[in-house]
Amino acid sequence: MSEQKIIGKGTWIDKLAFELLEREKQIGRNIDLIRVESGLGASGIPHIGSLGDAVRAYGIKLALENFGYKSELIAYSDDLDGLRKIPEGLDVKEEDIGKRVSVIDDPLCDEHDSYGSHMSSLLLDGLNDLGIKYVHKRAYETYKDGLLKEQIHRILVHSKKIGDKIEELTGQQKFQNVLPYFPVCKNCDRLYTTESLEYITNEKKVRYRCKDSEIGSKIIKGCDHEGESDITKDLGKLTWKVEFAARWQAFDIRFEAYGKDIMDSVKVNDWVSDEILEFPHPHHVKYEMFLDKGGKKISKSLGNVITSKKWLNYGTPESILLLLYKRITGARELGFEDIPGLMDEYNELENIYFGKTKVDNEAKLVKSRGLYEYVNLLNPPKNSVTHVNYRLLIELCKIFKDNRLKHVTSKLIDYGTIKETNSHVEDLIKYAGNYSDDFEETKITATKITIDDSSKKWFISDSSWRYIINSGTYTIFKLTRTRTISIDQWIHYGWAWFLFKIYTKKNNLMMNMRFKN
Ligand SMILES: [Zn+2]
Ligand SMILES: [Zn+2]
Repeated sequence: MSEQKIIGKGTWIDKLAFELLEREKQIGRNIDLIRVESGLGASGIPHIGSLGDAVRAYGIKLALENFGYKSELIAYSDDLDGLRKIPEGLDVKEEDIGKRVSVIDDPLCDEHDSYGSHMSSLLLDGLNDLGIKYVHKRAYETYKDGLLKEQIHRILVHSKKIGDKIEELTGQQKFQNVLPYFPVCKNCDRLYTTESLEYITNEKKVRYRCKDSEIGSKIIKGCDHEGESDITKDLGKLTWKVEFAARWQAFDIRFEAYGKDIMDSVKVNDWVSDEILEFPHPHHVKYEMFLDKGGKKISKSLGNVITSKKWLNYGTPESILLLLYKRITGARELGFEDIPGLMDEYNELENIYFGKTKVDNEAKLVKSRGLYEYVNLLNPPKNSVTHVNYRLLIELCKIFKDNRLKHVTSKLIDYGTIKETNSHVEDLIKYAGNYSDDFEETKITATKITIDDSSKKWFISDSSWRYIINSGTYTIFKLTRTRTISIDQWIHYGWAWFLFKIYTKKNNLMMNMRFKN
């Protein structure tokens, strides 16, 4: 392998920011200020993956600044999005389906003016908790202030050409017949029941009809109203297939990441941006999707959704940032049981950064140091904090429920894990205490395991699982340091771990891993 040049701090974030810069230079655009954007949906309960979009875009901003450029993150919340489906557990009226989330009552508290505001605030609070700085823009104001009116006009003038292109790129024929714009029905206030029939160019108005429409696999009754909607006012919105392009040009956006689920939209938007609006589309990267432990797209229903707020009961902001900055591609299953591993992984990175753990591989060293700096938003602490193994803390917190802080602290001192307590150790005990109170430990009686050759192969390829399982009861503990294990042992432990995973998934149990010194 040839030696690779290290870019910036050696992480994927630096590489991406570098590509972006190279592309901008090639296009020849002004790069005095480079804006990056993230979109925040305001129609569902935001989970930790929803934060990822903004957190990672912020990483790009930091990398650009590190290269000596000025940059800014625009966090755009689409609160004009219509409600397609009522998230499970939310008290929202059926008749609100198809309405803009900015006009639906807040179902969760009295503090916000709408459903959309509540959901946006959850996301923004999450970003604030992590220390992410951004300029917030709302769809509601963007349209009200007419910031997209020129782009909307141009798109509607070229709607025939765009309809053809949408069919060519995605196979969707709908926009051959209707305009890519949803007026809000003047009579029933819904926008996903309206169909735009004609653009009256000199008046800048869209003629529409409100009709029965399929929204979120349900037929929603239209009210048959026919009317005209002024595109310079906040009386409608572009469909996502073309709206990003309008926004990119209006806000001068040079980078936006996207998830696999909106890949088709991005393809169309790139073309609209380049060919119709004559604004070279921003640089992109496809980011990782988070799945729940059943391998499905993460649930957005109330109760079981993994929000940053809940996460922060059990783990530090750094554990979330580490999760989001570790890598960007692929898909991964995510649950609260990932917190102990991330907490300990952060400590390990800190040890590498401060030279307490030696890493021989130069590339790995640079990358680990770089990752540590990004997790600290390029403002790493001067000194390492006291480290206590998180799983050990969970175990101690399980034993000591009353007067926990005092007892756990004195045990840690007895063990020689810490010399004295401090506010960081107290925080850790609080996190681990919440974790041990909320998640039950699962033990499964051992069974004899035999495996065939094809399973062996499967296990060797799944090298991400480095766990050992005791016989007797399956007490699982993570290898905190690499030890030498024979292939046979590997296969045995890997297979048992696999069964354990299946068992817990099947029985819907929250797992907890026991730590052993
Ligand atoms: Zn609220
Ligand atoms: Zn209507």
